[in-house]
Amino acid sequence: MDLGIAGKWALVGGASKGLGWGCARALALEGVNVVMVARGAEVLQASVDKLKAETGGKVKVLAVATDITTVAGRDAIWNVAGGPGKDYDIVVTNAGGPPPGDFREWDREAWIKAVDANMLTPIELIKATVDGMAARGFGRIVNITSSAVKAPIDVLGLSNGARSGLTGFVAGVARSKIAASGVTINNMLPGKFDTDRIRSTLPAMAEKAGKTVDEMRALQQAQIPVGRYGTPEEFGAICAFLCSQQAGYITGQNILPDGGSYPGTY
Ligand code: NAP
Repeated sequence: MDLGIAGKWALVGGASKGLGWGCARALALEGVNVVMVARGAEVLQASVDKLKAETGGKVKVLAVATDITTVAGRDAIWNVAGGPGKDYDIVVTNAGGPPPGDFREWDREAWIKAVDANMLTPIELIKATVDGMAARGFGRIVNITSSAVKAPIDVLGLSNGARSGLTGFVAGVARSKIAASGVTINNMLPGKFDTDRIRSTLPAMAEKAGKTVDEMRALQQAQIPVGRYGTPEEFGAICAFLCSQQAGYITGQNILPDGGSYPGTY
């Protein structure tokens, strides 16, 4: 299926690895020009080179090695040479998730950091780009949040809290006047995907459960109805569809790719 978005510009946060990489790749393979952001310049450049090779120079792939959660980082994105300024057609908000832990150990600074990265940064990115999208009559914003928004995970309290704030904000703005201007805003709530992020959360969960990391991984996969972690490619394909022309009637939704893990009917 042709998603009808070739030639558009996408900004993808946290794009050097994992789920952001999956989204950047899927969009570029649809002919979308992509600005990829991550802090580590070397890994990011390797991912950009990989994508340029895979797309055979048919799309522009630009790298901005910066911390997207800072004002200076976002300024660097808006000013990247050869980029569209703030005139993006597609924005995928994403950065690293907060660390796991015990809520008794999180001070104000830990909370501010989590809220800044996982709530205020997506809001700033939306604020900077959404009116331009509406004026041009097309826009797609996808926020990568977490299944923890629907089914909280105790050791990920910083994530549960900060992302729920973003979810509430998005629910309102997606249904505001911009909805009639061809702009959709949706959240993707990953369950368990095979990325560095999940590998980094496994040790704390294993320790809490009194298991080895390998035992914890096997236990987690056995608890997922499809019997495995998801892949960044599967995630990216859903993201690209949400950014498609065809998905223009889907907005304000929380899409839950989790291999069937969420136990509720709705
Ligand atoms: P990942 O594999 O660790 O990749 C994270 C990406 O974000 C990397 O490219 C990283 O590069 C970049 N990044 C992190 N902090 C950044 C910052 N401040 N500014 C710019 N780039 C930044 O993680 P993932 O699994 O793809 O997870 C993506 C998001 O989904 C996270 O918020 C995570 O909590 C959430 N999530 C993931 C899962 C899962 O199963 N994987 C489940 C639920 C929720 P640098 O480190 O070089 O900046």
